[in-house]
Amino acid sequence: MRRTIFDEDHDAFRATCRTFVDRVLRPDQEKHLANHEFGRQMWLEMGKLDLLGLNVPEAYGGSGLEDPRFALVLAEELSKLAFAYSSCVGIHADCVAPYLVDLGTEEQKQRWLPRFCTGELVTAIAMTEPGGGSDLAALRTSAVRSGDDWLLNGSKTFITNGYSADLVVVAARTSPDKGARGITLFAVEAGMPGFERGRKLDKVGQAESDTAELFFSDVRLGPEQVIGEVDQGFIAMMERLAIERMGAAVNNLAHARQILDETLVYVTERQAFGQPIGTFQANRFTLAELVTQAEVTQAYVDACIMAQLEGTLTPVDAAKAKLWTAQVQNEILDACVQLWGGYGYMNEYRVARAWADARVSRIWAGSNEIMKEIIGRDLGLAGQPVQRRAH
Ligand SMILES: Cc1cc2nc3c(=O)[nH]c(=O)nc-3n(C[C@H](O)[C@H](O)[C@H](O)COP(=O)(O)OP(=O)(O)OC[C@H]3O[C@@H](n4cnc5c(N)ncnc54)[C@H](O)[C@@H]3O)c2cc1C
Repeated sequence: MRRTIFDEDHDAFRATCRTFVDRVLRPDQEKHLANHEFGRQMWLEMGKLDLLGLNVPEAYGGSGLEDPRFALVLAEELSKLAFAYSSCVGIHADCVAPYLVDLGTEEQKQRWLPRFCTGELVTAIAMTEPGGGSDLAALRTSAVRSGDDWLLNGSKTFITNGYSADLVVVAARTSPDKGARGITLFAVEAGMPGFERGRKLDKVGQAESDTAELFFSDVRLGPEQVIGEVDQGFIAMMERLAIERMGAAVNNLAHARQILDETLVYVTERQAFGQPIGTFQANRFTLAELVTQAEVTQAYVDACIMAQLEGTLTPVDAAKAKLWTAQVQNEILDACVQLWGGYGYMNEYRVARAWADARVSRIWAGSNEIMKEIIGRDLGLAGQPVQRRAH
């Protein structure tokens, strides 16, 4: 089914993204896989093409685009090459940018955003802790007053871009007795005394991106490092959920559709019992179902994106998009592995890596169980209150 949400500006932008992916990113993918890192050079190359500050105002070096379809196009093209690329770029350009743009002071924006857009300043967001990620309101990393400053102590884990980031937005408890209303966001920068990182974590998939543990030991943070208002960090995170979940949904679906397309070619070439494997009725039916799932899901995701453009996207609809696309992505990729047979289990084949890359979609950005809680509560079926965020 033809998608109707794009005009010629989006098409031209897609061509730019494809050129970047094919000429710059693809040739270095093996290096990224081996290094477990996207690499600074790639960030700088993206900055040169104005791909990192799409939603950042022009005054700070960005493109000032309020249309989410441009970010969607970039995410789709990155996901088609590897899920890790849209993950690590998405964290920087889609997840962290709104915090700095919406909540940053003029001084902070001047200090960070121009380098954010050029790729000289790579960012991450650190909410999850070793003790738990789903129950964000229970986080334990603390920031305690020391004169006008704060002293940050604690640790975070599973942080995308955590190993390479120059600036990490860290959620910390500033009022021990206030629960969710006692959390503040801080900008912790590379080189600050007391800020250490663990090794790059050895993930099941997405080897092209770095993921790390972060440790804070009496990191002294001045008031100029506070993002937004003290004790308002949880609300700030909640307000950005719908956008973050839509980013996940777009990536999930684009990633699965690309591998499905590649599988549709493979099944016409691979022979068994004297005929292409795609022509066996069992496989033809499977593929018919997968293509239907992908196209129907695309219609929902595109409708959500248009709602986002119009400002009417609800957090619950975004949760449905995240939940559903993660399920569909995993179902499609599992079936694709089956169709590739033994090759589908070999890491040198894209389908095998894509299958492993996709597994985390049901865990991160608010797990699928948490998405169901959100959707279920919207049906008026609330039990214990559950509040959850992305990543
Ligand atoms: C590769 C990777 C990258 C990540 N990147 C980031 C990042 O950049 N920044 C960041 O802050 N975090 C990041 N995360 C963390 C991610 O968001 C968390 O893993 C996720 O929120 C789940 O938290 P948890 O791992 O602590 O699981 P837990 O919260 O311990 O949950 C364990 C299981 O219990 C289930 N569960 C929990 N509560 C409920 C409930 N109320 N009802 C039913 N089931 C429930 C969960 O769904 C899950 O299946 C990343 C994780 C991974 C794996």
